[in-house]
Amino acid sequence: MIVALAGGVGGAKLAHGLYQLVQPHTLAVIVNTADDFNLFGLRISPDADTVMYTLAGVANPATGWGVAGDTWNTLEMLTRYGYEPWFRLGDRDFATHIARSEQLGAGRSLTDVTQTLSGALGVHAQLLPMCDEPVATQVDTPSGQLPFQDYFVRRHHQDPVTGVSFTGIENATMTKAAAAAIERATLIIICPSNPIVSIGPILAVAGYRDALGRSKAPKVAVSPIVGGKALRGPADQMLAGLGHEVSAFGVAQMYRGLIDGLVIDEADADQQARISALGIRVLVTNTVMNDEADRVQLARETVAFGQAQLNAGNQQAGRSQLDITSQRP
Ligand code: GDP
Ligand code: CA
Repeated sequence: MIVALAGGVGGAKLAHGLYQLVQPHTLAVIVNTADDFNLFGLRISPDADTVMYTLAGVANPATGWGVAGDTWNTLEMLTRYGYEPWFRLGDRDFATHIARSEQLGAGRSLTDVTQTLSGALGVHAQLLPMCDEPVATQVDTPSGQLPFQDYFVRRHHQDPVTGVSFTGIENATMTKAAAAAIERATLIIICPSNPIVSIGPILAVAGYRDALGRSKAPKVAVSPIVGGKALRGPADQMLAGLGHEVSAFGVAQMYRGLIDGLVIDEADADQQARISALGIRVLVTNTVMNDEADRVQLARETVAFGQAQLNAGNQQAGRSQLDITSQRP
């Protein structure tokens, strides 16, 4: 079983590469739910939906989020009723939130609902919300504390970030399904997602750090910072605002103690020695996923990199070599 930790658009791209590389039922994606919020009386799970639509092959390729070919009639009508359409929800996308809200309202867990929705879209990997309890990211800015989607979407992540917190995190616990996946993991991958607001909340939920620490599986991350910048979104500004170095090395420092290896981009090859000095192995390759072939290629190299760490560890311990994955023929 490969376990990937992911946020939205960046995480979904590598998760999709893995999904195409390995037998789908041997992949579990644990997804950030601290971006989740309520709108129009509906429960929205942006990162889970981005991963779900991407694995199902229905994501809008231009944006990375939302459904391909979606229409905007519902939002247009809501606008006529006086609602401000700051968060773009297409008609098909609305159906996801209606179904989720209805099923949650009937008392089902988010894990259960997510499994039902993703299964209905033909996703054969496990898509696992990080927790079933509501957690909400808050972003501290000079204009005050903002709920995450206000900061990210409504205000176009233009405010400087001076702090981040996760409301409700103290009541959140790792789900049984996520614990079971991590227990069975032969490889754990931290996708190139925002380390602060996508991976950060997952690691802050009670249970994950312990479970990951206990796991004997190799743990590798892919840097979302390429050439000192985020490829999109505010990860670079957030890292800087919170006092981290904005570089692959900065990402390595954040994941130190958690990961065995870090995949960095060719643009950052000069940082290899500094990262290795932290006790983290480094793979330098192209990490920019412009098309589907790039996704599969990066997934293949990341899995091989994890396999190499496992082989090295086994050799040291005198154990036999094991295969991490059942790859698709
Ligand atoms: P969000 O929840 O939609 O913001 O998405 P994530 O947190 O999963 O991912 C955001 C991060 O993905 C940003 O920091 C980007 O730099 C990174 N990212 C996006 N596309 C790529 C890519 O092709 N390669 C790498 N290495 N990082 C990427
Ligand atoms: Ca997100």
